[in-house]
Amino acid sequence: MLYRKLYSFDYEEARDVPEAISLLQTHGTEAAVMAGGIGLIEEMKRRAVTPKVVVSLQPIDQLKFLDVSDGNLRIGALSKLSHGEQSNVVKEGFPALWEAIAQISSAQVRNMGTIVGNITACNPGSDVATALVALDASVKIADGNGGKCIPIKSFGVHSRKNILKPGEIVTEIIVPCLAPGAQTAFLNLARTKEDCAKVVVAVNARVTEGVIEDIKIALGAVAPTIVRATTVETMLLGEKPSEGLIQAASERASQENMVTPISDIRSTSQYRSQMVSVLTRRALTRVFQNHMN
Ligand SMILES: Cc1cc2nc3c(=O)[nH]c(=O)nc-3n(C[C@H](O)[C@H](O)[C@H](O)COP(=O)(O)OP(=O)(O)OC[C@H]3O[C@@H](n4cnc5c(N)ncnc54)[C@H](O)[C@@H]3O)c2cc1C
Repeated sequence: MLYRKLYSFDYEEARDVPEAISLLQTHGTEAAVMAGGIGLIEEMKRRAVTPKVVVSLQPIDQLKFLDVSDGNLRIGALSKLSHGEQSNVVKEGFPALWEAIAQISSAQVRNMGTIVGNITACNPGSDVATALVALDASVKIADGNGGKCIPIKSFGVHSRKNILKPGEIVTEIIVPCLAPGAQTAFLNLARTKEDCAKVVVAVNARVTEGVIEDIKIALGAVAPTIVRATTVETMLLGEKPSEGLIQAASERASQENMVTPISDIRSTSQYRSQMVSVLTRRALTRVFQNHMN
């Protein structure tokens, strides 16, 4: 990749969330928010984005938290990927999220990048975001006007484009604790450990008295945003897990309307489609393994 020199821009540090919003509202579309900066600065070097003002959230200590309260994991906007990786609460209570974070090969990325920055960048191949969609997370947004909370599956509108308007920031991600007995799986496929994934699959399922009572299947890198395999979910709900059911569901996954993979340097669209089925079968086998005879 050809990197150009970083151009001159104004740099502002916000001391709290209202000041961040005020700065962003003042500068409108000419401003960009920065958390860890590893995604933003790289995009500025490539001129993919060219903000005149960068508003850093780094001094805002209130955004540095990662804890469980009231049945939810709360991830503050300045929680780094490494905080998630080092957290036993995440490792034991949210294994799909932990696996998605821990497999990011570069320690520099985990130490600099934030979990929220990963989500706001809206990379359709994001491992972390795919896990969070399967976990049915929500995104809390501050807008200087009371704020709002929206499901993460509605946050990305297109590749690299989220629903935030100028003057809005994400303050935290809220992940409901898994229901008793729920099992999760996270799988991805990449050319090398360092490369972006060709396909990502995350599953969150609960079987009660032998029947699938709840299931969420998230697919990454196969559409302009991360998608839920809703047809497959409907097909599985209320059924008893079996090898035949898993096979049929996995084949259906690659035929979901929303699954429209592209061909690029990492893979052809046909191969991505095939791998959606393969990874979905492996993920479903993992979450249902204790419920099949
Ligand atoms: C070499 C490399 C390898 C990577 N490997 C993986 C991988 O294997 N799997 C994976 O899932 N990801 C991977 N990533 C992505 C990485 O996780 C993200 O780039 C990182 O987490 C972004 O966090 P940040 O704090 O640096 O965000 P920043 O660079 O500060 O921001 C990223 C974007 O989000 C916006 N933003 C940041 N915070 C907020 C906020 N609070 N509110 C509103 N907008 C905000 C910024 O304006 C910018 O557009 C990789 C990245 C790199 C550079």
